[in-house]
Amino acid sequence: MDQHERDLIEEMREKRILHWNFRGITNLPIALRDWGSEVEELYLKENQITVIPSWIYQLTNLTNLYLSGNKLKHLPEEFGIMGRLKVLDLSDNDLRIVPEGVTRLKTLRELILDDNSLSQLPLDIENFDELEKLSLCGNNFVTLPEWLGSLNKLQNLLVDNNCLEELPNRLTLAPSLELVSVCSNRLKHLPLNSFMSPTMIYFNCNPNMNYISYPLLCQFLEMGWDDGKSCFSANLNVTEMRPNHRIRLHVDLSSEKENSNGTAIVRLPRQLIRVFSVENKEPVSLWELSLRTLFENNYEIYLNSSICPEPAIFHNVLFNGPISICLSNQCHQPIFTEAWVTVGTSEEVALLIVLLFCSQKCAQTFDFVSHGIKVLTWRC
Ligand SMILES: [Zn+2]
Repeated sequence: MDQHERDLIEEMREKRILHWNFRGITNLPIALRDWGSEVEELYLKENQITVIPSWIYQLTNLTNLYLSGNKLKHLPEEFGIMGRLKVLDLSDNDLRIVPEGVTRLKTLRELILDDNSLSQLPLDIENFDELEKLSLCGNNFVTLPEWLGSLNKLQNLLVDNNCLEELPNRLTLAPSLELVSVCSNRLKHLPLNSFMSPTMIYFNCNPNMNYISYPLLCQFLEMGWDDGKSCFSANLNVTEMRPNHRIRLHVDLSSEKENSNGTAIVRLPRQLIRVFSVENKEPVSLWELSLRTLFENNYEIYLNSSICPEPAIFHNVLFNGPISICLSNQCHQPIFTEAWVTVGTSEEVALLIVLLFCSQKCAQTFDFVSHGIKVLTWRC
């Protein structure tokens, strides 16, 4: 045994927290296996580790493991039996998929996977009932799964610097959510519904986004949100068009800006498949009516039973939750796939505001003036 090894053993006998950052470590010292069973927190940031040995699970008291800034592509299967682990930081490694060992750590509270090459979350994470913080910044995510909104304890969702075009609608139903950071993505819109819990969203540098829904605006203003303008690098002049299958509204801006014959393109979430203007007398479809009725009559029963009607899209739309709630004061009906839409400008922020109603009647009777909203015309 050399002096270095004797020093390590001495350190492990004395300490529950080991700070082994920036040490040029390529392999975990074998002494850790033999003497590390009492270690609770292990910091191994910014080393040169390519492989975690399979004996790692013998660190039976480990609760916090920090492995950022290494060269990991995989983790051993045994990782999945580290039942006491609460915090796992795997940021800045070479991960292309979330390692299978990680997907079995159902009691994790913090999972940090920043700056890897990930594009998908495995479904197993849906069962991480204790997860409070999930950080996925600097990866290649284009979409996030709707089930994130079902994580009961999730407080912080950090997804900056990805390629996200939208957030899961079901996030608005997440009961504990406090912070979503989604800066530097390709968002076309935020969820239209307000959040069930008081949630703050940071969304700077999403150049494709040019509107916000009225319920979300009200929620942000209530929470003391005063830098709305700086969050948008796009403004009322956005006319960019890209081919895709979501509904686009061409909003007439000529009354807003002098010498302007401009139109702004507002892209609605893909869940919305039919929209009407206030003049439109169309009745609500049976499909939409049945979604609303099921949702208001304890739809969880239908989701979990064999009597949930086909097709599967019915199940999905209910699971994702309503896209908005009718803004009429007396109504508050959930809205899923069709709505009467008004676009306007608000005195509060220099943004387009989108308002959704469940029926023509609700849209016609809403008092836009007293809400400080100037209505603009649009065509589909
Ligand atoms: Zn209504």
